[in-house]
Amino acid sequence: MMAELEGIGMTSRRTRMRLVNRLRDHGIQDEDVLRQIGEIPRHIFLDEALSHRAYEDTALPIGHQQTLSQPYVVARMTEVLMAHQPSRVLEIGTGSGYQTAVLARLVDEVFSVERIKPLQDRARDRLRRLRLYNTTLRLAGDTMGWPDQGPFDGIIVTAAPGGMPDDLLSQLADGGVMVIPVGEETQMLTCVVRHGDEFETTDIEPVRFVPLLGGVVR
Ligand code: SAH
Repeated sequence: MMAELEGIGMTSRRTRMRLVNRLRDHGIQDEDVLRQIGEIPRHIFLDEALSHRAYEDTALPIGHQQTLSQPYVVARMTEVLMAHQPSRVLEIGTGSGYQTAVLARLVDEVFSVERIKPLQDRARDRLRRLRLYNTTLRLAGDTMGWPDQGPFDGIIVTAAPGGMPDDLLSQLADGGVMVIPVGEETQMLTCVVRHGDEFETTDIEPVRFVPLLGGVVR
């Protein structure tokens, strides 16, 4: 797998390691997560005009007023999720597909939903190019998440709802974990673990995400 990805990202291997060291300095400890960030070429998830900034630790625009999350935030969310060792994960907000790719290399199966069709089309091409065949994408927005494929033992939400969405909590398996930013202007990254009908909630840190919206854009 690594050799295949290397072909695509040869020129920026050293730049990616610099990013990994920075994330480690900022407190990311899960070496499996760091390894994926070191191997996955982030530049292919951006338009060419922005690809030279791919290994800066910053969020970048991907069109349609959406953003590819900051690498630190991708790493932190993935680390919190992976601490609970989920194997079937639902992602809300495919966007560029970068977070999907990171997850696909760490878990058995990733189901990812996106409401904006042109973003989903581009993400699908990139995931195929990286041969990440354990990813399944769906256009969604009218219904939240992917109830038919649930329950999931991991859910990661990369757009922010104003409050905790009940229809996602109900797609979480018993013992499952959800990582989600909650709030309006600035949000609290929150970890929810389900124990039967109880939901144990832990605040992680403040973050800024684009809003979770309803409706499909074609
Ligand atoms: N994980 C992405 C982040 C993209 S930004 C990445 O790594 O690039 C968040 C994405 O969530 C946007 O693409 C936005 O269109 C999408 N989104 C917002 N509300 C949604 C909803 N209700 N269902 C599915 N996707 C949604």
